[in-house]
Amino acid sequence: MNSALIVDCIAAVRGALLASESDIESLDRAIGDGDHFINVKRGCDVLLALSPELLPLAPDAACRQIGMKLMSTIGGASGPLLASFFLALGKSIAGAATVDAESFARAFAAGVDAIGQRGKSGLGEKTMLDVLIPVANLLQRLTHERIALDPLCAQVKAEAERSMLATRDMIATKGRAHFLGERAIGHIDPGSKTCQVAIHAVCDLLTSR
Ligand code: ADP
Ligand code: MG
Repeated sequence: MNSALIVDCIAAVRGALLASESDIESLDRAIGDGDHFINVKRGCDVLLALSPELLPLAPDAACRQIGMKLMSTIGGASGPLLASFFLALGKSIAGAATVDAESFARAFAAGVDAIGQRGKSGLGEKTMLDVLIPVANLLQRLTHERIALDPLCAQVKAEAERSMLATRDMIATKGRAHFLGERAIGHIDPGSKTCQVAIHAVCDLLTSR
């Protein structure tokens, strides 16, 4: 991973999220307050505009810039949570000129931990962590086993999809959906959908190069 790849990922994730607008919108309208897509889109737009400044940076500095930008521009619960992901990811790869798969998997897991600390949340609470934690665990296992990129991405995509769908049957104990109690059952968590779409977009970009 280098900053050129980070910039390509921003464009790919933004394109995929924009293409999923109606899905993501309707989920947060059903069990949230309807602003999740707007929050996510604002984040994507500011990161796209930031891309020229990210290119010359080392990957850790680029991730830190992304985190700081998201912290100051995305509202809602998801802004500070996603910002802490990138800040922790950057910290984990500090000083590296490029980042290999295993280091990236470790950094990704550190980012996911930071979301849990910031949100005081964990697995099974019907949040984005229900996609991010299983994906982080799988990514660490597969990179440790040095599996090739194509099967790695295929397995990661399948895990993101499976875990996103599994939030449908959960009761929320964090975020706005927890006010709904059992009425949130039957609806996928919007943050989980966003993460699944973003993970798929990055995997598709990596396997198409
Ligand atoms: P808000 O809930 O403030 O309107 P968003 O709509 O942008 O913010 O984001 C909602 C998403 O944020 C939820 O779908 C959920 O995935 C995630 N989320 C909310 N609270 C938490 C938390 N404490 N920990 C992890 N993720 C959370
Ligand atoms: Mg919302």
